[in-house]
Amino acid sequence: MPETVAALKLAIVPDERTAAMLDGQSRICNWTYNHLLDKANELRALYREQPSDEIVQTLYKKEGLRNLLPVIKKQKTFLKSIHSSPLKNTALRLSSAILDYQKSKKGKRKGKQTGWPQFRSWKRKWFSLFYDEPTKGFAVVDNTLELTLGTDEDNKRLKLKIPMPDVSALKGKTIRNLRITKEQGVFSAVFSIVRLLPEKKPVQRIIALDPNHKNFAYGVDNDGTAVEIEKPHWLKVYDKRIDEIKSKRDHKQKQTRLVDVLEHAGKPIGQKRWESSRQYKKFDTILENVLTKRREQTKTFMHTLANSLFRQYDLVAIGDYTPNGGGITTSMRRSMNNQSLIGRFKEVAKWTATKSGKWFSEFDEKGTTRTCHACDHVVTAGLAPDVRQWTCESCQTHHIRDENAAINGLRRIVDDKKQKSLGLSRPVPGSGHFSIKERWAWRVGLSGVRCTLRENHSSLMNNRQEIKREEWYPPIQLGQAYV
Ligand SMILES: [Zn+2]
Repeated sequence: MPETVAALKLAIVPDERTAAMLDGQSRICNWTYNHLLDKANELRALYREQPSDEIVQTLYKKEGLRNLLPVIKKQKTFLKSIHSSPLKNTALRLSSAILDYQKSKKGKRKGKQTGWPQFRSWKRKWFSLFYDEPTKGFAVVDNTLELTLGTDEDNKRLKLKIPMPDVSALKGKTIRNLRITKEQGVFSAVFSIVRLLPEKKPVQRIIALDPNHKNFAYGVDNDGTAVEIEKPHWLKVYDKRIDEIKSKRDHKQKQTRLVDVLEHAGKPIGQKRWESSRQYKKFDTILENVLTKRREQTKTFMHTLANSLFRQYDLVAIGDYTPNGGGITTSMRRSMNNQSLIGRFKEVAKWTATKSGKWFSEFDEKGTTRTCHACDHVVTAGLAPDVRQWTCESCQTHHIRDENAAINGLRRIVDDKKQKSLGLSRPVPGSGHFSIKERWAWRVGLSGVRCTLRENHSSLMNNRQEIKREEWYPPIQLGQAYV
């Protein structure tokens, strides 16, 4: 059976003392990271003046900075209170960030260019504790996560026992590693677990989704059901709030005074840094909270939708359209947001398919909108975005724009040679007019997808008002930010 590694995030509920201990561990790792970065910066400057192989070995090798730890540990005894795994991984994390920067600079790394690593602020982001080996430093016993730390002043090994209520989710799973995190004041244990994947199932039910900017996507399946998936309207609310908070924050003075940089024990290390004003920091914290919530909610949206689709369909296919970077105007921003959302949804859908033994694919979307699915006539001038319905001048078939595009998409998947090898066990639409039997509207909520059947026998449906919007807004708490 094929297998893969997946992440499983479980809440842990440390008591006050244990929570303070975890904070302390994270703080020391953060200090170590910054301390090593300081060293790395020095070496980098030195290397520019006088390149040497010795520097390369420390600065640009995977384990180079890690090898500095034993000496630092002798100087800074508080490092002894950390288990060797998270301490080692703190160094590896910095080295990996440096190597990413190197690769990115040389154009060997995909995506956005990565900068040279920066000092981390523990107050801003809790430094996670990574235990990379399944048998070293942690154990799951009954409903408890047992975490081993370093040693105290008397060389006694420190241990923490932390209640983990949802431990049953780990039953029968093989654990690879563990990461302790804290977000919005909540501690979690993120386990990497080995997951067995089911064998792929034969394909019977297929849906083709046409992503666009009016809705999240419009789908047509091979049984003649059309589904319009509403886009997450609450994203707009978030974006408006985010803009507001950003502008409020940026009106506050960012840098107010120079303060001493303190080391772990609270002693100044002889360096100064600029400190942001309290007002600035306050808005910054609020902004972080709203961004986190937006991220979480978007994730829920995508997983809920993907699960719903794969419960009903064996193959989910999505148009491959991706906007090219150039010519972005403000008015395009919103639909761009939707496009990046689609991009991320594809990743989620791919994974959902894999773990449920089903199929995900993309189809070539070029020309699907302007081609009449009934007679293959092509509207050479294309259809302006605001044309939601149109009549084919060649065969007089009346089209709902997105529906016609999805039907063309459905044909393309079926024609695709790759898909033919899936062994379709159900008749699929051939050429000619394809009639839609039912039209549904889907709204993805926090607890599932609500499906509404739209008025039948109306080829002229598609009054978007049919999806009644609930008076619901994301729960964004702004505290006293507006006082
Ligand atoms: Zn036609």
